[in-house]
Amino acid sequence: MPEHFTRNTLECTAWCAKCQRDTQHRVDGGRRGPCIDPKHPVPEFSKAQMTRREKLAEEKRNSRLF
Ligand SMILES: [Zn+2]
Repeated sequence: MPEHFTRNTLECTAWCAKCQRDTQHRVDGGRRGPCIDPKHPVPEFSKAQMTRREKLAEEKRNSRLF
């Protein structure tokens, strides 16, 4: 069952799947929020976006060749 926090709880310790360990999480309105561990890995989407951009640039380069 979901854990309940008092309204003045701002942080809690919870398991983070990305950090693969118990970390500090923010508590938003009595619910467990995002992991706030300083070592929490940054989202990978920016890397994926860059890869996508590179691919598009490469495709453009290739289409210019043919
Ligand atoms: Zn984390």
